Amino acid sequence: MLTDNFGRKFYYLRLSITDVCNFSCTYCLPDGYQCDQPRDFLSLPEIRRIANGFSQLGTEKIRITGGEPSLRKDLPEIIAACKETQGIKRVAITTNAFKLPEHLPSWLDAGIDAINISIDSLDPRQFHSITGHNKLPHILKGIDMALAHGQTTVKVNTVLMREYNAYDMQTFLDWLKDTPVTLRFIELMQTGENQEFFDAQHVQGSRIKQNLILDGWLPAIRDKSAGPAQEFYHPDYAGRIGLIMPYSNDFCSTCNRLRVSSLGKLHLCLFTEEGLSLKDYLQQDDVEPLKQHIINMMGNKKATHFLHEKLTGATTNLAMLGG
Ligand code: SAM
Ligand code: SF4
Repeated sequence: MLTDNFGRKFYYLRLSITDVCNFSCTYCLPDGYQCDQPRDFLSLPEIRRIANGFSQLGTEKIRITGGEPSLRKDLPEIIAACKETQGIKRVAITTNAFKLPEHLPSWLDAGIDAINISIDSLDPRQFHSITGHNKLPHILKGIDMALAHGQTTVKVNTVLMREYNAYDMQTFLDWLKDTPVTLRFIELMQTGENQEFFDAQHVQGSRIKQNLILDGWLPAIRDKSAGPAQEFYHPDYAGRIGLIMPYSNDFCSTCNRLRVSSLGKLHLCLFTEEGLSLKDYLQQDDVEPLKQHIINMMGNKKATHFLHEKLTGATTNLAMLGG
């Protein structure tokens, strides 16, 4: 089992398969995807070896992310490769879902267990102004299809922003009355490129948590390979609410996840100074050297990120690593 110097165990791998994105979310890629050099993204055989190596070290869940992972034509093969790996119990994806109705059948066939969809506003015009794309009705149609099918869990990620959505909790709550999804409010994180935006828009999740508890929302129990959200349920609501609060004091103490970038670099934290290349170890099917290399690097994992000191490491935006 992969363990660090602070006794934390790592059951969960977030695997980025591209850093390209077609959206231009205000907080992430406000000027759209900028390509400054040719990219050599992980190939399917390399992804198989990563899944294999990590699963032999105790990883039970893989989340496929990006950039926008659905821009890769071989995404169904990637999902299937992760799903077929012995020891991997859950394969999830984080996506902007711009073509969810079209993509869903092939993802389900490949064995996807969970789909997290980014929706920062339930107002189509606001959604358009945040992402640059008028896609909200199409995405909501895809969510209905996924829920009707029933094979996957569906979660929605909403980045909290003072002037875009934080003032309008009621619209989200009304939606959750009858929609059986978990809506996770994510505190906006500062990155290398969004400092001004962060200063203007950051809202603390703790205030929302207080209001939820006052309104009768109850904390749910956390699974060992669960993501970073504190989840809440309410007897009158079909949906749940999650809060991801990276600025809260004990956020890093429950860290159970590692990240591999689409360029094949291990990131011990979302905000490390550099990624540690695995590429040389991904060129052969024998994963023993890869496993040993990963174990050797675990000692470098720090107790916390340094976001409170406004230190964002090498992370210029979250599209480069998958959030
Ligand atoms: N393109 C996909 C999507 O948007 O779901 C996957 C990649 S995106 C980087 C993963 C998640 O990170 C999304 O839910 C997105 O809203 C979130 N995210 C991006 N930048 C962020 C930031 N600065 N602070 C908090 N969350 C952020
Ligand atoms: Fe693209 Fe996701 Fe970043 Fe939006 S949050 S720009 S969809 S990578």
